[in-house]
Amino acid sequence: VRTLFRGVVLHDPAADRGISPVTDVLVDGTRIAATHLPPPEAGDVDRVVDGHGHHLLVPGLINAHFHSPANHLKGAIPGLPLELFMRFESPADESLRPTPREAYLRTMLGALEMLRTGTTAVQDDAFLMPAPEPEIIDAICQAYLDCGIRATVALDQPELPEVDKLPPLSGVPAAWRAAIQAPAPMPAADLLERYAHLFTTWHGAAGGRIRAAVSVSAPQRVSPDYFAALDELSCTHGTPLYAHMLETKVQRTLATTHPRFGGRSLVGWTDDLGLLNERTNVIHAVWVSDDDLDRIAATGATVVHNPVSNLRLGSGIMPWRPIRDRGIPIALGVDEAICNDAADMWNVVKTAGLVHTLTGEPPGTWPSADEVLDALWAGGAAAMGHPELGRVEPGCPADLVLLDLHSPAFTPLNDIAGQLVWCEQGRSVVLTMVDGAVVAEASRVTTVDESALMAEARECFERRRPVWHKAVDATAPLVPAYAAMVERAARTDIGMSRWVGGR
Ligand SMILES: [Zn+2]
Repeated sequence: VRTLFRGVVLHDPAADRGISPVTDVLVDGTRIAATHLPPPEAGDVDRVVDGHGHHLLVPGLINAHFHSPANHLKGAIPGLPLELFMRFESPADESLRPTPREAYLRTMLGALEMLRTGTTAVQDDAFLMPAPEPEIIDAICQAYLDCGIRATVALDQPELPEVDKLPPLSGVPAAWRAAIQAPAPMPAADLLERYAHLFTTWHGAAGGRIRAAVSVSAPQRVSPDYFAALDELSCTHGTPLYAHMLETKVQRTLATTHPRFGGRSLVGWTDDLGLLNERTNVIHAVWVSDDDLDRIAATGATVVHNPVSNLRLGSGIMPWRPIRDRGIPIALGVDEAICNDAADMWNVVKTAGLVHTLTGEPPGTWPSADEVLDALWAGGAAAMGHPELGRVEPGCPADLVLLDLHSPAFTPLNDIAGQLVWCEQGRSVVLTMVDGAVVAEASRVTTVDESALMAEARECFERRRPVWHKAVDATAPLVPAYAAMVERAARTDIGMSRWVGGR
């Protein structure tokens, strides 16, 4: 299929107000064939999309970090620190085992929201409670395949008992002690079998639009052997490895309280194991030290910044400028619909462009609009290990979004970068294309029956809501012990702070 975007403007940081002169862009098959071309004869293309001289064609947005299994829980929880929030996010309760259809629907909810608002690629770090069954893996990947988004899927499964993932917990009720010391729901050998299923069945599906990656969830949640096995899998297939690192102050203090880390930070521990490299997605990197950042820079790993999630969970402010100054690629992510609480990237882009002003550092250190867009596109491409993404250039995959510059966000037109970062909220999107196929147009996803899927999801999760509440309520006796642990970490002087104000 050949599609001609006629009469569009492109983002050009070097040009006045950041936009190119009006031009045409030809997409041939899955790739951008030419930009700035003399208009081909109308008969030579299958479709002409008219940009009317005022539609902006930019790379599709890249959501570099996401967990689809909570897509149906947006807005459901109060603001809480991560360690208290996680009992809402993923109670390991048998009653919550999803059917394949539920997994398909909840994945689709996020994908539809992303496509409508111009996000064309997502890295889904899917935690599948209680364990990643092949039919659930298939349901997630099938949803991504059907709706047309570019997706990389990993299995975010802890492998160690709960007590080994946290600083000491005191005051755990007797009835819960066995549960928090019990092994994780699935041992490493079985998890690796599920990975074999994921890679064999889905890696490279739909012409490479669907890919598999690996996830340790976080270094403290797995054994070194399992970590190394996943890293090898990632190396063999040339795909990313996802690792949440130093998202919270609790995680920073873990190293000083748990003997297995020998006083090293989670980044230092991972690096000393030889498991930090250019395939690693260091997710969050909020409570990182200078030494951690030097190690990340030396290995070529990418940091994935989730600023809305960090605000929602009170995690702290990621040190943007020290990371940029070291040349570490920064990508942007939603993190999760239950702690964002949307699956669109515009609110992430805007927050990334705002939150770093709270550091009190000089304004020259705050992210510029161009830097935020660089993180969105080039950083996202680096995280995905797919450097051709995030560009409107001949030969690159045709993952594109068309924005109407006559919308309120861009009227009048002052500066494209500034207005993309601080003004646009997804309402100017008129068309989304992935891999050369139009997947959303006029605020509707065109690849699937969006209304029917949304209606089915409403009905399905309405039925599930009481079950979820019951599973969450069942964990209430643990709250005092977790709250005390979080508070102890908050009060510990560690010689740095990522919070604004008091402590
Ligand atoms: Zn995450």
